Amino acid sequence: TATSSKALKIGLLPADGIGREVIPAAQRVLESLSGPKFEFVTLDAGFEHFQKTGTALPQETIDTLKNECNGALFGAVSSPSHKVAGYSSPIVALRKHLDLYANVRPVVSVKSASTPHQKQLDMLIIRENTECLYIKSERQEVDPKTGMKVAWADRRISEYASKRIGTMAFNMALTRDKLRQQKPESERFWKHKPRVTIVHKSNVLSVTDGLFRETVRAVKEQNAEKYANVDMEEQLVDSMVYRMFREPEAFDVAVAPNLYGDIISDGAAALVGSLGVVPSANVGDNFVMGEPVHGSAPDIAGKNIANPVAAIRSAALLLEHLGYTTEALQVYGAVDKVLSEATYLTPDLGGKSTTSEVTEAILKNL
Ligand code: ATP
Ligand code: MG
Repeated sequence: TATSSKALKIGLLPADGIGREVIPAAQRVLESLSGPKFEFVTLDAGFEHFQKTGTALPQETIDTLKNECNGALFGAVSSPSHKVAGYSSPIVALRKHLDLYANVRPVVSVKSASTPHQKQLDMLIIRENTECLYIKSERQEVDPKTGMKVAWADRRISEYASKRIGTMAFNMALTRDKLRQQKPESERFWKHKPRVTIVHKSNVLSVTDGLFRETVRAVKEQNAEKYANVDMEEQLVDSMVYRMFREPEAFDVAVAPNLYGDIISDGAAALVGSLGVVPSANVGDNFVMGEPVHGSAPDIAGKNIANPVAAIRSAALLLEHLGYTTEALQVYGAVDKVLSEATYLTPDLGGKSTTSEVTEAILKNL
């Protein structure tokens, strides 16, 4: 916790592609903070490691994270376009091993000269990370009536997982509110009471989404006093998408089952200009792993033009979850300054700067 003077041990897993460029950038930012002391350990994982050694996630990486680290930063992993025997995604496995049951994505716009027409938003998407259609229980058979193939997928929604993700959503709504109160009124984007939006489709899937909806609602109802100041609303996932594109400023915290969470968070990323600026954290009760939302971007890997902002914000998110709020705000502030000045931007944001130049600019503003 934040009161300990011992160094924080952070596992770094750059993995593949631009992960190897953006994770070192994030490391430099963490190293330059004056508050916490860090000890870094770089760990193997990824598709390239699999091609060299036959494993995408060495046991040593898992053990080091579990036994020695306070948190981790993951870069990105290449996904082979065809099925490769023996390969499975290390990030999915890590979420399981460390019980990182939530994927948390803050999506924040920055007003700048280069994006005058951009929608303004500051929302937090909380995606359930362990079940839904991602249990990957699929099968195919031949329909005797038509003689043609038919495919099925099971979808699991449990009260247990829905309750813990719902609880996280309400707690984070309170935390966000507390942080906002520390800002001067004029700098607060969200001017209302904290709000949790439950995303579902229970008009069609009344059993599965119905359980998700009821369980999240019950979190507030059963903790009426604790969450008295948090408003709760619901959106069917289709109307959620519509409203997010029309009036993204209307959302504070959104909580969704795995698949809907996946879809709405990529959509939200589009609203803020580039995948290259959106961070995430994989959160469990005992461990946090920051991870940029983007992938390994093989098309731009090795050219020193990847946007380091998503990884740097992921490092800030990691700090936030480890209790280093002041330092996290310092990093967010430096990033916002560089983005809004729009002097140093990578090509994905319409600029001409390199990964290193943007990183330097952020370091100067810390
Ligand atoms: P993967 O299979 O690893 O997801 P991908 O080909 O889907 O790889 P993504 O990383 O998902 O690639 O990126 C999608 C697009 O967004 C690519 O064109 C990529 O160049 C761009 N992109 C992603 N991240 C960044 C970044 N940090 N900076 C600049 N451009 C990015
Ligand atoms: Mg991708």
